[in-house]
Amino acid sequence: MITWKEAISDIDYIRHLADIDNCKCKENITLDMAINAMKKEIPKELMPSKLTEELSLLDYKIYDISLPQCPNCHTALTTYTKYCPYCGQKLITPVK
Ligand SMILES: [Zn+2]
Repeated sequence: MITWKEAISDIDYIRHLADIDNCKCKENITLDMAINAMKKEIPKELMPSKLTEELSLLDYKIYDISLPQCPNCHTALTTYTKYCPYCGQKLITPVK
């Protein structure tokens, strides 16, 4: 079976064979769209939530917890999902 990375490489090769590497034509734009959609199928690790701590002006500790983020569009996600609901990026939940 062919991987997404191999398929993207093949599309780039086809683009080169058709001699439309730097062309603004519809066909080249279509190939760019296909590659961008395929890149989102290559799973990326979800950026985990983080706990940060800082001191207030009166020396009280202030804690802040950030939500996990999509590594592609950096949207904070409230649930762990296989795909980002905002940009369609395939996600891997980090192993603790
Ligand atoms: Zn996203």
